[in-house]
Amino acid sequence: MAAAALGQIWARKLLPVSWLLCGPRRYASSNFKAADLQLEMTKEPHQKPDPSKPLVFGKTFTDHMLMVEWKEETGWGQPRIQPFQNLTLHPACSGLHYSMQLFEGMKAFKGSDQRVRLFRPWLNMDRMLRSALRLCLPSFDKVELLECIRRLVEVDKDWVPEGKDTSLYVRPVLIGNEPSLGVTQSTRALLFVILCPVGAYFPGDAMDPVSLLADPAFIRAWVGGVGDYKLGGNYGPTVLVQQEAKKRGCEQVLWLYGPDHQLTEVGTMNIFIYWTHEDGVLELVTPSLDGVILPGVVRQSLLDLARTWGEFRVVERKVTMKELLRALEEGRVREVFGSGTACQVCPVHQILYQGKHLRIPTMENGPELILRFLKELKEIQYGTRAHDWMLPV
Ligand SMILES: *Cc1c(COP(=O)(O)O)cnc(C)c1O
Repeated sequence: MAAAALGQIWARKLLPVSWLLCGPRRYASSNFKAADLQLEMTKEPHQKPDPSKPLVFGKTFTDHMLMVEWKEETGWGQPRIQPFQNLTLHPACSGLHYSMQLFEGMKAFKGSDQRVRLFRPWLNMDRMLRSALRLCLPSFDKVELLECIRRLVEVDKDWVPEGKDTSLYVRPVLIGNEPSLGVTQSTRALLFVILCPVGAYFPGDAMDPVSLLADPAFIRAWVGGVGDYKLGGNYGPTVLVQQEAKKRGCEQVLWLYGPDHQLTEVGTMNIFIYWTHEDGVLELVTPSLDGVILPGVVRQSLLDLARTWGEFRVVERKVTMKELLRALEEGRVREVFGSGTACQVCPVHQILYQGKHLRIPTMENGPELILRFLKELKEIQYGTRAHDWMLPV
């Protein structure tokens, strides 16, 4: 075995990922602490959105934001909760030039008991730190960041809407803020968190299924790439493909991968299929985390819920278009859906593939499983059922 390969195996076993990817870091011991939070309240509070009007996702922001600055020489500064405001950036900022940028998305829910709770935020913190290390941006203490976020949501808790299926969307961001054009590790970074009140994804009670364009000419992510990290650079280039889907009469993109046209994701959602497998066993399947799949928090939650029910097989495995076509022909498909923080679960009723519109009988089948997932998630998220997935604010 080559010395380099041996060295790699050794390194994987013994060293933290940060060392492996970026070399030893001088500021490894630098962390910001929630106990050092500085609080500057806004002097001009904004008017909260009218609960009787629909909220468009991501257009309304709360009064405050979290901001933490990092410099290589001094490490993290004190975290601040400050009035929501514009950033001032150097025009050479590496976050703008080379996509030294990553983000997260999670939700807080207000229960009928008026308490606000964050849904599995620990998983978002894990994923965010993974993304930071992949971009050689500074590491941070996940527990401290989560406590800062909790405090921010607490400060703006009156912004958490109360209507049916509403929530507060939490958007943490970390960007390189290097004021120079070299493609190198940033010596400056900004971590900030903004909050958006959001309405019901499916207004009214009707669940709107989506149609998908599955064209293997478009590739979202590949093995060895970074599709399994929530990096901003993964998303900008998908807008054109999304527009192409619209042109061809579809609402979203079904991302295929490889010569066997594996189903990987739906837009910015993970994909699930509930069917009778070729071997005759009823199962819920979603692609395994093989490097092209974003490890979604809702994905994990659906797997966890279905496994605790223990009523059908739950598997993470590759699924190809050929398998889906055959299952559709043989009438084995029950439900196909996407999962993600924005919608939780979103039914699929049609796929345009190789010039053919494939009908997916998701809605005809209830959709029994989708409705059950939505119901259980709702009970947990709005606190009707106490659950250790929720962090009280
Ligand atoms: C964010 C995201 C998801 C869903 O992740 P959740 O944590 O469940 O919101 C799925 N796929 C892609 C590509 C994503 O960016």
